[in-house]
Order: sequence, then structure tokens, then C-alpha cells
Amino acid sequence: EHPVITPFTWFGLDVGGSLTKLVYFEPENIPDDDDQSSEIKKAIRIIHKYLSGNTAYGDSGVRDTHLEIKTQLGEYTGSMHFIRFPTAAMPAFIELAKSKNFPLLATTICATGGGAHKFSNEYETQLKMKLRKIDELSSLIRGIHYMESINHNESFYFTSPTIKEKCQKLNYNFVHPYPYLCVNMGSGVSILAVTGPKTFTRIGGTSIGGATFLGLCCALTGCNSFEEALELASQGDNAKCDKLVSDIYGGDYKKFGLPGHLVASSFGHMMDPEKSKAASKADLARSCLAMVTYNISSLARLNAEKQGIENVVFVGNFLRKNTLSMRLIAHAMDYWSNGSMKAIFLEHEGYFGAIGSLLELIN
Ligand code: ADP
Repeated sequence: EHPVITPFTWFGLDVGGSLTKLVYFEPENIPDDDDQSSEIKKAIRIIHKYLSGNTAYGDSGVRDTHLEIKTQLGEYTGSMHFIRFPTAAMPAFIELAKSKNFPLLATTICATGGGAHKFSNEYETQLKMKLRKIDELSSLIRGIHYMESINHNESFYFTSPTIKEKCQKLNYNFVHPYPYLCVNMGSGVSILAVTGPKTFTRIGGTSIGGATFLGLCCALTGCNSFEEALELASQGDNAKCDKLVSDIYGGDYKKFGLPGHLVASSFGHMMDPEKSKAASKADLARSCLAMVTYNISSLARLNAEKQGIENVVFVGNFLRKNTLSMRLIAHAMDYWSNGSMKAIFLEHEGYFGAIGSLLELIN
């Protein structure tokens, strides 16, 4: 069943393992629709105002205003808004949507991510809204290509990623992108080989992803949020927890070109009671971040190598506000490929699935 597109139905939903992403298109002028009663029109204006006039919704909903972008959808010009909340807060979101009369805007919402299946019944029984399920990886790729086509500043890369004073974030020109590898760093990780605007295969993945970083950090440091975990990691030193090559060799392992500062064994110091006692929460958080980030980089590089691909695009909310991981990835990709591979990042990092889902409305 195809959703009926009225001028008011512009939502794309991506219900992930950690975060729900809602992309909402606000037309510049809410067009008149003769089929709608004036009461409904009034209610619709109130909802539009609520969504675009606020930056926080309920206890945990946030609008990422810095990502807002003007665009054209079908025949309408307007702004795309980006809203997220923890998937665990879905019951509260459904209550909020009910109290704000959301079902007036749409009877069917295009939705992707595992939660589009998991919460399908709740939407139908509690909101009288149907979720039209869209495949998450197809949505992701569609969203990336769309955003790339409308936003000249979407993609970027880093030069000198390990030298803080020299490191620069530069615009990447995505004109001839194919083939490229897409590494989606969400709760878990999916690795896709993308060969054309609509052609890709999922070639790998790992369960050691963003939720592993956050879960381990919470368990080890008692922190309560992604922001807190990142803040701790930024202050820590992973060499306090990790065994480095130099801890084992006393220096570099020259024969195979492994520098002394390389991590030989993540958390390898923690079996030593004294070292374990000396490691701070920040050090533990930094080790978690380094372990997850380097592991994903390695898998990305190996898969790229196997496919003969040079450009690797990293997306997903694990990278949200996480310049530290982006720089580690940029360095690892460059270093281990002898400069032949490039790590590329995208500004709307975690929203592509929801964007692709929204685009189903204009087919
Ligand atoms: P999913 O679709 O699996 O939820 P995302 O791309 O949304 O995947 O990424 C989820 C990951 O993003 C989390 O595991 C965590 O590492 C990171 N993250 C970033 N911001 C937050 C946040 N506010 N709350 C929870 N996790 C966050």
C-alpha cells in the first residue's frame, strides 16, 4: 500500500537499536487542501509550529538545529528538520504524538530500522497510524545520495589527523563516488559496498559498535550518557589500560613495522592490580573508544582491500560529536593502507536512514 501524499505527511522515521531518528519536512507555505476541514487545517498548523518552533520535545527528544537544511520535495520548497530521541523513550513519544494530534498529519508513515517492525502494532492501535516498512540499508544509501546532491558541504575528510595543531577538516568532492565502501556505525556496524546510485551489497559487519562503546563505558565508569562517555574519553589516556607494542618489545617491533605506541592488546594492563587501580574512569573510557574505533577501522580497511575500493564513507551516530573517533579512523585508514585509502565523513551522520525513508514519499 502506498502512502497517500497530502501536503502534510512529510515524515521519515528510522527506529534504531539505540536512537530513533525523525526527519520532518516543513513546507514554506502550508498549501491549502480543499479536502481538509478548516479545523483540521488549524490543528495541522499547530503541529507544524510545535515541531519547528521547539528544539526539545518531552524529556529526551532533541532537534539538531545545526543540521537543518532548505530543500525542495516534490513541488514544495521548505526546510528539513532533524529530530532524535532514545528508542527506549518510544512509549513517551507515542503519548506525545497522541496529545499533539500527530495522526492528523498522516495516516501512514514511512519507517525504517528494526523498530519499524517492533513498534508497528503500537502505532496502529494507539495512534491509528500505519508504518510503511522500508528497508534500512536501501534507505541509508538513498539518504546519503540525496543529501550529497543537495548539500555541497556534506562530505569532508581530515588532513594530518593525529597532529592537533595541523589537523584540518576539508570539504570532500563526491562527484565520482563509485565504488565506495559505506560503514554505518550505529549500535552495531554494517559494511556495504556501493557500486551505483541504487546498487550495493552488504559485505560485512560487526557487533562491536556504538552501543558496545557506550555500554562498556557505562559498565566500567558509571557514566550515564553518550556525551559523558565522550567527555571522559577526551580526557583519558588509553595507554594506562592498553598494552602497547612498546610494553612488550621495549620499543618498536621493527621487523614488521609495528611502532611502539601501537595498541597490542586493548585493556591488556587491567589484569595487573596496580595498573588497574591507577587507571582512571577517563582512561577506561578512552580505551573503550580506541578499541571500538580501531576495530571498525580494521574491518573497514580489510573489506575495502578485498573489494579493491579506495574511498570509505563512515556514517552513523557513533560519530555524532565524536571528532576523536573520526580522527583516529582517518589516521588508521591512511596509515595501514600506506596512503591509498581515504576516510570520508558526512555531516548528517546518523540521519540518512530517516532521510531515505522520507524520500519514499516522492518516489
Ligand atoms: P541505531 O540505528 O542502531 O540506533 P545510530 O546510528 O543512531 O544507530 O547510532 C547509535 C549510537 O550512536 C549509539 O550506540 C551511541 O554510540 C551513539 N550515540 C550518539 N548520540 C547518542 C545519544 N544521545 N544517546 C545514545 N547513543 C548515542
